[in-house]
Amino acid sequence: TPQAGKYSRVLLKISGEALMGDQGYGLHPPTVARIAQEVKSVHDMGVEICMVIGGGNIFRGLQGSAQGMERATADYMGMLATVMNALAMQAALESFKIHTRVISAIRMDEVAEPYIRRRAVRHLEKKRVCIFAAGTGNPYFTTDTAATLRANEMNCEAIFKGTKVDGVYDKDPKKHADAKRYDNVSYDEVLQKHLGVMDASAIALARDNDLPIIVFSLDEPGGFRGILAGEGTYTRVHG
Ligand code: UDP
Repeated sequence: TPQAGKYSRVLLKISGEALMGDQGYGLHPPTVARIAQEVKSVHDMGVEICMVIGGGNIFRGLQGSAQGMERATADYMGMLATVMNALAMQAALESFKIHTRVISAIRMDEVAEPYIRRRAVRHLEKKRVCIFAAGTGNPYFTTDTAATLRANEMNCEAIFKGTKVDGVYDKDPKKHADAKRYDNVSYDEVLQKHLGVMDASAIALARDNDLPIIVFSLDEPGGFRGILAGEGTYTRVHG
């Protein structure tokens, strides 16, 4: 069997937009399947996997509130959007015969399990992929904060944040040809320079618990597995 390297339990965070392909909105099933395949290849290494998926491909609280909706209401809608994405990912993973649980921070017992920490740990020990849905269950937070919270609670060794670029740059590499990628960057530098890895609450929560964040590109086939094995380019955010 392939080597798991130094990781035994990790959390993969992806934005909702990662699931929409080039459609600009919603879910693109072939893209969901491709990411599920990435997760499978890491699962096949024996690594225990948590996932948090955003909801921005369907609804963002801030956009709703900019249009006059009460912020908390709009945020709850955003959290519900993450549940749809989680169910789509569960279906894709199960089509590859990976046992998966969707665990929601907002109770909806007919569709997902409620979040019970020790039960989630047990699922991981049994090699089930746990998709944590509905963010933190609280408005005014993001799914990046939810990812950091759950990664801490599940004792993950690191958060792997899959993005469109292969790490953290000093400026947007899609707009500036001279943008430089960091191999390593500290939590404080991310906060001071507003490097846009995750929002400030998520970074602070990772920093206070020494949880490394590894930013890598999900667009490279085999990227997730390669990064876990220490190959390829990525940025490690740590103390
Ligand atoms: N959200 C929230 N609390 C949370 C997580 C998410 O209120 O703990 C809401 C918030 O409105 C956010 C939306 O859910 O805009 C979708 O999450 P996010 O923007 O983090 O998704 P991503 O950008 O990763 O796709």
